[in-house]
Amino acid sequence: MDAGQIRVFEIVERALEGKGLPDEDIETLYGVDPHSRQARYINWAGNELSRRASNGKAEIHAQIGLNGTPCPKNCQFCSFAICNGVRKGKLEMSRAYVVERAKLYEDQGANAILMLSTASYRFEKFLEMAAAVREVIDRNMPLLANVEDMSLEQTRLLKAAGVNGCYHAVRMGEGVVTGISVQTRLETIANIHAAGLTLSTCVEPIGPEHTPAELTEKTRICIASEALSAGCGRRVGVPGTSLYDFGMLTALDNALYVAVYRLATGLNPRLNCAAGTDLIASAGANLAWAEVGVNPRDTENLTEQGGRGRDIDFYREMYRNADWEVLEGPSPGWII
Ligand code: SF4
Repeated sequence: MDAGQIRVFEIVERALEGKGLPDEDIETLYGVDPHSRQARYINWAGNELSRRASNGKAEIHAQIGLNGTPCPKNCQFCSFAICNGVRKGKLEMSRAYVVERAKLYEDQGANAILMLSTASYRFEKFLEMAAAVREVIDRNMPLLANVEDMSLEQTRLLKAAGVNGCYHAVRMGEGVVTGISVQTRLETIANIHAAGLTLSTCVEPIGPEHTPAELTEKTRICIASEALSAGCGRRVGVPGTSLYDFGMLTALDNALYVAVYRLATGLNPRLNCAAGTDLIASAGANLAWAEVGVNPRDTENLTEQGGRGRDIDFYREMYRNADWEVLEGPSPGWII
């Protein structure tokens, strides 16, 4: 082995102590060739550490997309962005559809329910929908929200409506390929914590053009944000979006990245996303999202009908192939 290979093995050995890594080491691991023997060792170590962090349990959270009305924030990877022109006109799921899907997801064994809306959805309406869902699901079932950037008052209103946590991230290229500044995203994350809501985040959406340095910078932001779930998610190429021609990472690339994230962050948090395939799950990703309704990574109005949305059984089978046990019942830690 040459000196570069030896250095990678030494970093991984240190990471296995579960205390995380400095930026310099994280960047080195993100730069490893996914076909190399070092990559296999990183994937093995990521899986090993994720299983220690989670007591060998994987989870399936279930997303309901509330609307697909074109969104003025213009994130170039998103099918909702006005600038991409992929979607036209107002599109909102009915209250009956949303409430029914939430109950169905709970009955099917989802570990948490996530409601998603774009920045063109009325915040008061989101509060009404969240309260309606809260009424029909178990009080121990975490209810999470993925919505636009929020003031402290808005995050408090979310909590009052029965929401327990939020998905929020500083995305790849934030402020350059999106219409939102990094500062605005960070302020919302601070407001989420200040309101007593828990946080889910991720280094995403990653494309082939992103460098190890950029991945390391976003990894550090995620670690500092004290989330209950985090990891690395690849960008899904949606035809018609501005970034589509940059292409997509392979599952092999994404597997390496989730493993590097785990080694970078150590034993905390217990949930490492995004487990989209059994290959990625076998590198340590133990959080997957089932999806219904409208989906920013899709052009179908109902992602579960002919689109890319997958159901809970699909992810159970994926985890079975990667030899992960799926947690029974509500995901712990989100309700504080
Ligand atoms: S990613 Fe979110 S904020 Fe950005 S355009 Fe899509 S819906 Fe709007």
